Amino acid sequence: MRLCRFDDAETPRWGLIERDEIRPLATSPWQGLKVLGPAVPLTQARLLPPCEPSKIVAVGLNYRAHAAEMGKELPREPLLFLKAPSALLPPGGSVVLPRQSARVEHEGELALVISRRAAHVPAVQALEHVLGWTCLDDVTARDIQRQEKVYARAKGFDTFCPVGPWLETEIANPQALALELRVNGVVRQRGATADMIFSVAEIIAFVSEIMTLLPGDLITTGTPPGVGALVAGDSVEVEIAGIGILRHAVVAP
Ligand code: MG
Repeated sequence: MRLCRFDDAETPRWGLIERDEIRPLATSPWQGLKVLGPAVPLTQARLLPPCEPSKIVAVGLNYRAHAAEMGKELPREPLLFLKAPSALLPPGGSVVLPRQSARVEHEGELALVISRRAAHVPAVQALEHVLGWTCLDDVTARDIQRQEKVYARAKGFDTFCPVGPWLETEIANPQALALELRVNGVVRQRGATADMIFSVAEIIAFVSEIMTLLPGDLITTGTPPGVGALVAGDSVEVEIAGIGILRHAVVAP
């Protein structure tokens, strides 16, 4: 099943994607899947980020080869940081390069949205709390990240969290997905979620020991190697097999 959020006459609404149509839902999908109102053609809908996060939790350095390209030691525990919910960018949107940075980079990632409250959840039960899976670009001002010990500024600019285009709910094994990020059609990142240092289930369990995860929260699971610079005019695609393709543009300040 594919779930999306879309702009229904200026009202954000969740929907169920069936073939080339969106069937609007009466509520958020964690409250039920009651269809309400007429279907909307998918090609005519303005999609929104498929989440309603109280927080966006991100994991840094979760692939060995990416830690190596950053010149960092492997973390012994998941390295967590938060992205601001105000950084969310809808599918098809434009990342705005900030004047404060001379080096903005892409990080294609597998992300997930939480379906029910999760506090102190063991890893074996963690995936029961996942509503669905999606693509995310953890856009980063790399020069600022290298200057500062905390990532709030480097990862928190408006538009620095493109996510979507929808949630795929039926992923048999999230550790067996191929991920690719392309800039202007050229492959920059090619990875396999099998190469994660901490599995998705371990990440959810770890986070839930610290902060209660709420329905709609977004977790992004780290990027494989191949991160690189974005410039104005670039067109980015994050593709995860079995989920879909997230597209976004890049524009000058
Ligand atoms: Mg990242």
